[in-house]
Order: sequence, then C-alpha cells, then structure tokens
Amino acid sequence: MIKRFCSYFLIWIIYIVPQQAYGQDKWQRPIVVIDPGHGGTDSGAIGINGIREKDVVFHITMEILLLNREMFGDSLEIYSTRYTDTLISLRNRTKLTNTLKPHAFLSIHCNGAIRRKAHGIEVYIKQSNRKAERLARLFTAGLSNKLGLKNRGIRFGDYQVLRETGEFTSVLTELGFLSNIDEAEHISKESSIVAYALLILETLIKYVYHD
Ligand SMILES: [Zn+2]
Repeated sequence: MIKRFCSYFLIWIIYIVPQQAYGQDKWQRPIVVIDPGHGGTDSGAIGINGIREKDVVFHITMEILLLNREMFGDSLEIYSTRYTDTLISLRNRTKLTNTLKPHAFLSIHCNGAIRRKAHGIEVYIKQSNRKAERLARLFTAGLSNKLGLKNRGIRFGDYQVLRETGEFTSVLTELGFLSNIDEAEHISKESSIVAYALLILETLIKYVYHD
C-alpha cells in the first residue's frame, strides 16, 4: 500500500502541470473507448499459472479508469465496453464505439501460444492508417522502452473490433503471453497491473493531446 502510494505521489509530481492544464477544459475532454477482451463464459487465454485473460484485461481497464480520475483529473472521458465480468458480443462493443465516436479505441488482450518461449507484445491495426499507426507506435515504444517488454512489432489484423470501428483510431494490443511463465507471473502482480494501466493511459493522453 505504501509502495503504491509512493508511486502515485511520483506520478502526481511528474504530471501535476499537464493535469492542471487538462483539467481546465473538462467539457472538451476527448473520448476514448477501452475494450477489455472476453468476459463471462469466455475466459480468453488461460495462463500457465492459471491466470485468465478476461480478468487481467478487466483489471487493467478498471485501473486505467481509476488513475484517470484520481491522478489525471479526468483528462480523458473514458468508456469501457464492459464494467463487470460479463460477455458482451463483439457487435455490441463496436456499436457502442460507433455511437460514442471516440478519439481512440483500444482493445486490450493477452496472447497465448503453444510454444512456451514465445513472449513480448504486439499491437494490431486494421490497415495502413496514419493515426492508428502513430498510436500503435506510441504503444510499442512505451511498452518496450518503459516496461521492458520485447517488441514483436505493429501488425495488420482483420479483427472484427478493428474492422467495425475503422473510421476511428482503432488499435488492439496483445500485452504479453500468458503461456510464458515469466510474462504470466509478471502480469499477475498488482504492481504490474498498475504499471500497464499507467503506461496505457499516459500513451492515450500523449496521443490525443499532442496530435
Ligand atoms: Zn484475447
């Protein structure tokens, strides 16, 4: 708890100036939709240590909402496609996104592979799109440089959530392999959930405010 407080305090110092700046125009806050993959009966990938993808991505999303409110003065207006452990259809996730017309849409997933050595992060975009590529580059750079994860690169993926949100800046991240023991254990820690959430939030803020 103390450790968590200290890291919050450091973040507060680092971001005090931008937070004040963003806080002044709350009515103009950019909208972001975050889509924690899977949920309910769909667990997604099951980690080598038993951790479930649906729980990891949900916890990261809830932490992003918390940090946005507590540390960044609600500088983004963030919506999640689910707020509980329920299965929402992909169609309903994209319908919500199309209604909200966000500055950015981010679908969060974790990877799994038969080859247990496979590790690192991947960021998917629908097609060559300048804005999505920029956001994807910010994510790969942050996740590899700041969190020390292996960068497996930006890839094109014909995922439904990207296809049906194509008119917005839409990106899907695979935050490491739950089939890899090191990455599964790392992402199981509360401190890692906070670190991922902070990195994602910081990246989204950088993207929408420094376009
Ligand atoms: Zn997934």
